[in-house]
Amino acid sequence: MDEFSLIERYFTRAGRHRPDVELGIGDDAALCRVPEGMSLVAATDTLVEGVHFPESTPAGAVGHKALAVNLSDLAAMGADPAWFTLALSLPQADETWLQGFADGLFSLADRFACELVGGDTVRGPRVITVQALGLVPAGMALQRRGAAPGDRIYVSGTLGDAALGLALERRGLQAEGDAGAYLRGRLDRPEPRVELGRGLRGIATAAIDISDGLVADLGHVLKAGRVGARVSLSRLPLSSAYNSLREQAGWEPALSGGDDYELCFTVPPDKLGQLEQEAPAWSCEVCCIGEVVAGSGLFIEGTDGKEYRPQHSGHDHFSGGS
Ligand code: ADP
Ligand code: MG
Repeated sequence: MDEFSLIERYFTRAGRHRPDVELGIGDDAALCRVPEGMSLVAATDTLVEGVHFPESTPAGAVGHKALAVNLSDLAAMGADPAWFTLALSLPQADETWLQGFADGLFSLADRFACELVGGDTVRGPRVITVQALGLVPAGMALQRRGAAPGDRIYVSGTLGDAALGLALERRGLQAEGDAGAYLRGRLDRPEPRVELGRGLRGIATAAIDISDGLVADLGHVLKAGRVGARVSLSRLPLSSAYNSLREQAGWEPALSGGDDYELCFTVPPDKLGQLEQEAPAWSCEVCCIGEVVAGSGLFIEGTDGKEYRPQHSGHDHFSGGS
């Protein structure tokens, strides 16, 4: 199969077009209309096989995850997904793999009416780059900076599940019953918190998506806001699968495991009522884990009331090693 029939077969979709796409796949570049009063939000993330997903990952999960991690970045900015591009590097045109990949990719894209408007296709190691483009009313985007002392710190969903899923894959951990499948699902198919991100416009003072672990990503929020924080281990939201493995796994996956794709955000005291009122409309739980304080650094209170010092601060591709 040549490059053009591959694009035509798997990535061009008849009859599914947003009215704001003037020109999609097929020309040198796409033309998309940004409505008056809206800011364009752009995010890019690359997945490298063997680095960002295990080789055993089903093609559908790779397609889902490639888009999901980018929609998660848009969510963290409070943006609505609109369009995306896809740069694919593949060792060969494996039709079964491509069909699975496209199915996973488009089933997520369709849920958020996000249209594929272009991309690039090359031969090479399996590497997938998505650029997601979203829209937010001008001046309303959430940012990492903005947290102030007294703000409450929240996270969505549960923490550490994907890191446990990866530990299972690498055989460093054993799980029984449904827990293994649940954790593996959390690794392979993260759910971008798009409704939450949109709902937090005008409520959150700062937001970030947790891709490198809570400690590292909350750390970015604290640094950007020139503030410190106190959080408690006993308040971290853990899934029942995680709780069933807590003794074996410890706290590290929840604190510094990567790939959660939950949102971490701060809410000032006068917006807590609004948060509580609107939270039921978002398709995930949110949980207060601590508060912002004056100063700098993150104090983690252990279950014994004493300070807990995490062993790792989070995932960083360029630190340590070769
Ligand atoms: P050019 O040579 O002008 O860069 P290409 O031949 O690479 O264009 O691509 C032809 C068209 O197909 C372009 O509109 C491009 O955006 C689109 N395209 C290429 N690869 C993909 C892909 N993986 N997914 C979606 N669109 C793609
Ligand atoms: Mg061209």
